[in-house]
Amino acid sequence: MRYFIGNWKMFGVPKSVSILNKINSYYSKDKNRNKYKVVITPPYTLIESFSNHFKNKKISIGAQNCFQKDQFSSNTAAISSYMLKSVGAKYTLVGHSDNRGEGDTDEMLKDKVRYALKNNLKVVFCIGENKTEKKNKKTLSVLKRQLTKAMEKKFKKNDIIIAYEPIWSIGTGKIPSANELKKITIHIKKVLKGIFKKNSPAVLYGGSVDGTNVEMFKEIREIDGFLIGGASKSSKKFIDIIKNYYR
Ligand code: PEP
Repeated sequence: MRYFIGNWKMFGVPKSVSILNKINSYYSKDKNRNKYKVVITPPYTLIESFSNHFKNKKISIGAQNCFQKDQFSSNTAAISSYMLKSVGAKYTLVGHSDNRGEGDTDEMLKDKVRYALKNNLKVVFCIGENKTEKKNKKTLSVLKRQLTKAMEKKFKKNDIIIAYEPIWSIGTGKIPSANELKKITIHIKKVLKGIFKKNSPAVLYGGSVDGTNVEMFKEIREIDGFLIGGASKSSKKFIDIIKNYYR
């Protein structure tokens, strides 16, 4: 199974559902539709209405983050996995570099993953090195640390998706070379096989993916799909990625 996951970040209002209607209509008629899954993570404000709207449709709705506590607590403005599940979310991103940059530590992320799984959300766990770590050849060790701090053998591999997102690539138009990316994806799967004993969860790539460069990524068979930021806010750009992937 391949994944095309769109992260809307702080974009979208109720009428933006029209973007998803177009994506859903392509997805439900696509001859390749059973080979992949489309998930969109809109802002919190839209999760309930979008989840209801697409309840019996192909697209799944997820959240972009969740709080590191179970159910309810006195943390102003926080949203728990339990609350997300109650309004229809099926997935949640955890550890996006935007949120790591805003203070999410490895310890907090471990709790976010645990509680999300406990509340029956599938977790899209984001990892990635920054520009300095890449320059200092620390990429593989950074990724290993991020994975081993949050992942546990007892988690079910089908409830977890890993998104490798080099921070220097997000929103910049810069992407890793095919060789580099293949080597890194194999490393991530090797670390995951060590944790999950034999089987690795799906590993996605994220960072400036668009309808043109997806042709290069599809040659790397180890990549199980994509986390897409900018291009997921346009139905045409998002559909072009899927179309060109299966061309
Ligand atoms: C992201 O925000 O997770 C992302 C991958 O963004 P973009 O596709 O715009 O680089």
